[in-house]
Amino acid sequence: MKIKKGDTVLILAGKERGKKGKVIKILPGREGVIVEGINARKKHVRPKRAGEKGQIVALPAPLHVSNVKLICPKCGKPVRVGYKLEGEKKYRICKECSGEIV
Ligand SMILES: [Zn+2]
Repeated sequence: MKIKKGDTVLILAGKERGKKGKVIKILPGREGVIVEGINARKKHVRPKRAGEKGQIVALPAPLHVSNVKLICPKCGKPVRVGYKLEGEKKYRICKECSGEIV
């Protein structure tokens, strides 16, 4: 996966297209990413004990990784990600500015 937790991404699809957000979770098996504040689904939570009230909580639903684009922290543009190998280490690099993406 080219997107990692903590990355800032641009949303490319859906009703929140054009928004930016921070990746808070990666779901590698599903090629999904959860972006803070994006694609939130309201979920009703049943009371766990008698006397408690049920609640509605907003949980962000995963987006497919193809629907987001990384925003390069160096040049600030939505960019494609490449890889660079240096010895044993593999770096992600920005294809726009060639900057290393940590
Ligand atoms: Zn860049």
